Amino acid sequence: MAWQGIEGHDAIAARFAAAEARGRIAGSYLFVGPPGVGKGTFALALAKALACERPGAGLVACGGCASCVQADAGSHPDIDVVRKPEDRSTIPLELLIGDDEHRMREGLCWRILLRPALSRRKVAMILDADHFSDEAANCLLKTLEEPPDGATIILVGTALERQLPTIRSRCQVIRFAPLPSAAIRRILERETAGTGIEPATLARCAEAAGGSLARARLALDPDVTAFHGRLIELLATRPLRGVDLARETLAFVEAAGKDAPPRRARLRTALEAALDVFRAAARRTAGEAGHGTDAAAVAAWTGQPDRVAAAAACTLGALEAIDRNANLGVLIDAWTAVLEEPRLSAAP
Ligand SMILES: [Zn+2]
Repeated sequence: MAWQGIEGHDAIAARFAAAEARGRIAGSYLFVGPPGVGKGTFALALAKALACERPGAGLVACGGCASCVQADAGSHPDIDVVRKPEDRSTIPLELLIGDDEHRMREGLCWRILLRPALSRRKVAMILDADHFSDEAANCLLKTLEEPPDGATIILVGTALERQLPTIRSRCQVIRFAPLPSAAIRRILERETAGTGIEPATLARCAEAAGGSLARARLALDPDVTAFHGRLIELLATRPLRGVDLARETLAFVEAAGKDAPPRRARLRTALEAALDVFRAAARRTAGEAGHGTDAAAVAAWTGQPDRVAAAAACTLGALEAIDRNANLGVLIDAWTAVLEEPRLSAAP
């Protein structure tokens, strides 16, 4: 049975349970690991268990006490969750220390100094911790270094390299690995029970997800599957019609809605699908055996090593630019221009 129903991270849960049993829960943690493996979900479940009035063996929240009820409702006075606003590229200073009018009378760094209202302890978590502004990171340092007694701060980021050394050195780092595909399959089976999706489809999506549950869920989305089919078709067409590719890719991305994360996730799936084609073509050009990706698209790119290398490099660059919060429309235009005519265009 997975710890509190969270697949794939039992070893980390066991470490926290052992630390709790010895009274050694640290004041500051930094969770790192690839996107979509459940770091944020784990942090919330941990906060609930740490705040629970009657936690069971292995640091499992009871689910029934007043603290657990409030945690489940997202209204626990001692569990503080801060995330980057959708329309901002970094976590703004005011979320940590209040705006100009309320400096150190609002914000996470102020709230964590208050006595717990309901539980034995306070837990604050900052999701999207890859995206601190420098001034926000700096004003967090003191809080990370000396959190009040009984308070724990959890930063949830992706790669350790994306954190300032001053933040890293003040936190206990917890590394989350990609999820095993069997764990992803079990989650997908639970989530799609009764929908009639074939077990083989679930197994294939779990296998192809590279350890990311978020990616596996997207791969099951019929809109995503349909667009990938169309993308492969466009990549197989000669001459390649960059304008159509750009227009249809942008429409696919924008159909995810107004929020940036689902839009970025959609573009990421499209770029990764294209990258699969380029990699298969490179292997085919090098004389290696075929690959599961669509044959016509791979054939269209085979035998042109320079062009494939330029397309793959540009696609990798675009994937990195997504993580840096680039403007997606501009990114798509630049990407399709390079695919259409790699020698005349600059990478985005
Ligand atoms: Zn409880």
